[in-house]
Amino acid sequence: MNGQSILSLRGLHKSFGDIAIIRGVNLDVAPGEKHALIGPNGAGKSTLFHLISGRLPLTQGEILFEGEAIHGLPPHQINRRGLARSFQITNIFAGLSVFENLRLAIMQRRGLQYTVWKFAHRLREVHDETMHLLEQVRLAARSDTIAGELPYSEQRSLEIAMTLASDPKVILLDEPMAGMSHEETSYTTGLIREIAQGRTVLIVEHDMDVVFSLCDRISVLVYGEILATGTPDQIRNNAQVKEAYLGEEIGA
Ligand code: ADP
Ligand code: MG
Repeated sequence: MNGQSILSLRGLHKSFGDIAIIRGVNLDVAPGEKHALIGPNGAGKSTLFHLISGRLPLTQGEILFEGEAIHGLPPHQINRRGLARSFQITNIFAGLSVFENLRLAIMQRRGLQYTVWKFAHRLREVHDETMHLLEQVRLAARSDTIAGELPYSEQRSLEIAMTLASDPKVILLDEPMAGMSHEETSYTTGLIREIAQGRTVLIVEHDMDVVFSLCDRISVLVYGEILATGTPDQIRNNAQVKEAYLGEEIGA
C-alpha cells in the first residue's frame, strides 16, 4: 500500500535516554482513511503522535507524508504541508471570544499579521472563512461567547475548528473525548464524522464504541509495538489483541 498511502511510518524508534518507548513501528494510512490507534496507557500512542507532528525527534526510522520525508522538519512546516494535530491540552485563549480565537488561527495559516487588517478584502475573506468553520462545528451561535465560558464539549469543538483552520489533509486527534460525558461523546463523535469527510484521520481513543463506529481500520499499540492492524471486525476477533488489551475494554 506504500505507493498510495498519504502517511507512512517506517521502522520508527523512539527512546528517552536508555528507555525504548517506540520499538519499530510500521504503518501505512490511505488517503481518506479513518484509522484508530488503540492500546493501554503508556503504550506510546501520544509519543507516536509527537513524532509524526514533529514535536519530538525520531531516534530511528522514516515518516513519509504524500511520499516525502517529513521527519526532521519543524512542526509548523509539517503543519503547512497539510498535517494538523489537535492537542490534548487545549490551546484556546480563554479570554477571547470564540470568533476571535478561530480568526487568529485562520490568520496564522494565511500568514497574516494584524497590520494587514487595513486591507478590507482580506478582512472579509478571513471573516467569511471563520464563520464557515464555526458553522461546520456548530458553534455559529456561540460566536461572541468568551471561549473560557464555553461548556467543556464546546471548547473541544472550538479546538477541532482551530485544527481545521489550517485546512489539513491529515488530522491527528489524541483522545478528543477525554473527560466527556456519554452525551458529549456522542455529540463529538458526530462532529468528527462530519469534519472527517474528505480528510484522513488518525485518532487515539479509548472508547471502543467510538472507535468501532468511526474507523475503517484499527492498529493496536502495546509497549511501543504494533500488535495488529485490521478492520474493526478483524481486531475484535484477534485473539492476541483480546488478550493484550481488548478483553477488558469490550468486556468480552
Ligand atoms: P500513551 O499515550 O500510549 O498513554 P505515552 O506516549 O504518553 O503513552 O507514553 C509512553 C511512555 O513514554 C510512558 O512510559 C511515558 O512515561 C514515557 N514518556 C513519554 N514522554 C516522555 C519524555 N518526554 N521523557 C521520558 N519518558 C517519556
Ligand atoms: Mg496518550
